[in-house]
Amino acid sequence: MNRKKLVVLTGAGMSAESGIKTFRDDDGLWKNHHFQYLASPEGWKNDRELVTEFYNMRRKQLSEVAPNPGHLALVRLEEKFEVTIITQNVDDLHERAGSNNVLHLHGELNKVRSERNPDLVYELNHWEMKTGDTADDGSPIRPHVVWFGEPVPMFGKAVHIASGADIFLIIGTSLVVYPAASLIHYVSNSAPKYLIDPKAEPGARVSNLEIIRNTAAHGVPLLVDKLLSKC
Ligand code: NAD
Repeated sequence: MNRKKLVVLTGAGMSAESGIKTFRDDDGLWKNHHFQYLASPEGWKNDRELVTEFYNMRRKQLSEVAPNPGHLALVRLEEKFEVTIITQNVDDLHERAGSNNVLHLHGELNKVRSERNPDLVYELNHWEMKTGDTADDGSPIRPHVVWFGEPVPMFGKAVHIASGADIFLIIGTSLVVYPAASLIHYVSNSAPKYLIDPKAEPGARVSNLEIIRNTAAHGVPLLVDKLLSKC
């Protein structure tokens, strides 16, 4: 029997209860710099040391936190559904929880890449990236993160996955960062859709959408129980 395709889109709110702050929910400032500046090609061009330190701090913080009950509940969906998680998060908490099929739209914190060749990607085995380190093509390394203003190479793949969804879940994203926010519009009208976010406000009209104003750690396990009991 063919399993239903269940697709999950997650944002920073998914990891908030693990102890990783969302950018917009705190004041969005780090050492007096806006996150849009730190996570941008301009920031990198102007001050590599600062941006490197920002990502080193985020990587160190990630090494000290763990998946929350929301991440863990999503793994249980794999018992009955063909699950793909499309995450805007650069953390690895879905993988550490045990999810098997995760697409990172905005890159991965624990990886670095060649500045010149985006396909030369390396796993860091420590939280610290050092400025001055080079890739195999001799060019400097940079965080393997999609910065504001850069293209999102995985978007086409994400559109393909979203358009095949039988059920679509959105968790902890303000749906303001594009193109990720537009993914919901590729999901078929007939697919049931669920949005879990304590501050959820439906923007554009979306058919078949149930809004659950709850946090990821509390709301996701309840929704997973409901979806598993239904099928
Ligand atoms: P965002 O635009 O995805 O907004 C965060 C959303 O999470 C808000 O709507 C907020 O109401 C919701 N939220 C807050 N606490 C929640 C909880 N406990 N449970 C469920 N939802 C909750 O994210 P952003 O912070 O504006 O960041 C923009 C970009 O930076 C995105 O690409 C984002 O994924 C990335 N980012 C990633 C991480 C990470 O990897 N963990 C952390 C911060 C930002």
